[in-house]
Amino acid sequence: MAYTANENRYDSMTYRRCGRSGLKLPEISLGLWHNFGYNDDYETGRETILAAFDAGVCHFDLANNYGPPPGSAEVTFGRILKNDLLPYRDEIIVSTKAGYDMWQGPYGEWGSRKYLMASMDASLKRMGLDYVDIFYSHRPDPDTPIEETMGALADIVRQGKALYAGISNYNAEQSKNAVSALGSFGAPCLIHQASYSMLNRWIEDGLLDVLENEGIGCICFSPLAQGLLTGRYLDGAIPKGSRASRDGFLKASSITPQLLKKLNALNDIAKEGGRTLSSLAIKWILRDRRITSVLIGASSSAQLKENLAAVSQPALSAQELEKIGKELQAVI
Ligand code: NDP
Repeated sequence: MAYTANENRYDSMTYRRCGRSGLKLPEISLGLWHNFGYNDDYETGRETILAAFDAGVCHFDLANNYGPPPGSAEVTFGRILKNDLLPYRDEIIVSTKAGYDMWQGPYGEWGSRKYLMASMDASLKRMGLDYVDIFYSHRPDPDTPIEETMGALADIVRQGKALYAGISNYNAEQSKNAVSALGSFGAPCLIHQASYSMLNRWIEDGLLDVLENEGIGCICFSPLAQGLLTGRYLDGAIPKGSRASRDGFLKASSITPQLLKKLNALNDIAKEGGRTLSSLAIKWILRDRRITSVLIGASSSAQLKENLAAVSQPALSAQELEKIGKELQAVI
């Protein structure tokens, strides 16, 4: 059936300014790393994307290699854009990235100009777009001069194939160098995409300070620790079809009794506050004003809706934050 967007889609979402740029992003964005490849059900993916857009989630995050197979998430997203969302293109922020393995040979990964330029063009083709809003260097390349990688990003922006440049998975020092190189090419760095959750706090050790000083936004990926910070695994079972059951990036073996104890303790704190564990995890990230957006994944619109409930809930209270802090300090 033809899609018409919910006319109240902007009423409940909050938008945060991305660093010192002119761009605002929704507090919750949706990523297509999993669940949107050729092996996944198209209608489920479409329903999830449209439910997100209907709720004010106007930022969708991709990368050249998302699938599987690599590239297929961009094709799926292009199909949904073409069939449903094209009339709303100016309301949508699409990001993609290049950095990880994409094709064979020496030019199919990392940060050379050769790879980034070719990958940008291939991503646009797969999505059927003239431009993306944000193009990221997906990871730092130890063997390519930062000026080459950032020079390619800046040229992609100058060519109009991306409106903004971003970096992902760069540490504090690498970020400083990348930001300075990008600035020297006249294409300021808009945003850093970094992993961050209650179970993974590395960005607090310097990176967030760098981003704040430089006026760069921060979007956090795997905020639910790939599903650990939801109701998915709390009873210790590995549900069929869940990410941990697929033996990919989330290993069933990492779900130890100690971790389960911590997750259940966090879930108790969530329940006391009338929240779910996923909304607690999202609100905990949003407590920091330096964070622009929380980049979640969802394998169904039901999961998405549960997570979006966080937006309309009150901020975490001082007591909740204290209890969470104590729980996170406890040794796993
Ligand atoms: P999350 O931590 O949000 O994990 C999402 C997964 O958790 C879902 O696919 C689902 O897994 C499970 N889940 C989510 N909500 C619920 C719920 N309410 N109840 C039960 N289970 C739930 O994020 P991702 O790890 O998926 O990362 C999000 C995005 O971040 C990616 O799509 C990508 O865009 C980006 N990313 C960027 C990276 C980078 O290097 N720059 C690296 C990784 C991600 P399931 O149902 O399958 O069990």
